[in-house]
Amino acid sequence: MSKKVLVLGEIRQGELRQVSFEAIAAAKQIADGGEVVGLLLGSEAATLADTMIQYGADRVLIPEHPYLQSYTSDGYTQAITQVVETEKPEGIILGHTSIGKEISARIAAKLKAGLISDAVGLEVNGDEFVFTRPIYSGKAFEKKVIKEGPIFATIRPNNIAALEKGESRTGEVSLINVEIKDLRTIVQDVIRKTAGGVDLSEAKIIVSGGRGVKSQEGFTILQELADVLGGAVGASRGACDAGYSDYSLQIGQTGKVVTPDLYIACGISGAIQHVAGMSNSKIIVAINKDPEAPIFKVADYGIVGDLFTVVPLLTEEFKRI
Ligand code: FAD
Repeated sequence: MSKKVLVLGEIRQGELRQVSFEAIAAAKQIADGGEVVGLLLGSEAATLADTMIQYGADRVLIPEHPYLQSYTSDGYTQAITQVVETEKPEGIILGHTSIGKEISARIAAKLKAGLISDAVGLEVNGDEFVFTRPIYSGKAFEKKVIKEGPIFATIRPNNIAALEKGESRTGEVSLINVEIKDLRTIVQDVIRKTAGGVDLSEAKIIVSGGRGVKSQEGFTILQELADVLGGAVGASRGACDAGYSDYSLQIGQTGKVVTPDLYIACGISGAIQHVAGMSNSKIIVAINKDPEAPIFKVADYGIVGDLFTVVPLLTEEFKRI
């Protein structure tokens, strides 16, 4: 039976995040010929509505309110909850990002709805929607079905293929009013720490460094390899604790969970807490001078050697391609 499904388009540095397009694809599957309604919030929303449509949204709603110019958990939760109450969608899909994680639980609580968090797969069997999600830090997968209420899920970036962009797709874009009150925080200004670069949680290729990189400067060779491959640099907590890398790049149980096509671990031992954040990468390459390092147990390809020799060699080789 066809359904109406709401998708939050998430904006980062003036662009829609890739996971929003993946969320539209998941919503299309659930909608089964029904309607996919995009929802955009923030000061740049109006400029990105057409992009949501080109990736498959049938129409786009833009709630307008001065307090929605910048993200706040309270403001976005109130706006999205009101849209859900008015539109009454049978499905709601968000990306499993920092924002998605934070507000999905709050929206679900307000709607008294169930929530499937961090889905990496979706199967539609008639009127049953089966979501796959990792458990025990990615060591096993469970299948979940929502029996009642909206089909509400967050999807992990890089796991559900987005639709091809269709420049000729058209759809209605509407500005709507929402009431935002009793906010506990109001954003006055946003000062970005870094600009540009590939977003770690959506990167298709990640070159990650551990304590074996030995210094902040040591990360330069990792950045060079990442640049040649069009990827992003990540780090273990060991490297972050040692001050070689920023905590915003930490991958693992207490950092970001990533699922790139290629993960190159350099000088990372492979502690269980690190592996929890990267073990679902499609291909894992480990470079470590210790042949007994546990990272080799999860790696598809292992290079036993000094990363300061191996990484520049790889960069040179990839430059040639
Ligand atoms: P190490 O374990 O010190 O490994 C360094 C590796 O580099 C070694 O294998 C060594 O052989 C190799 N090496 C050294 N020099 C070279 C060289 N020149 N060339 C090649 N290889 C070399 N960790 C995370 O990463 N992410 C998390 O989210 C996280 N969360 C945690 C949560 C909790 C509650 C706890 C208790 C721990 C957590 N940790 C996390 C820490 C984790 O247990 C490890 O301590 C950490 O991952 C180790 O980082 P590392 O592999 O970089 O360092």
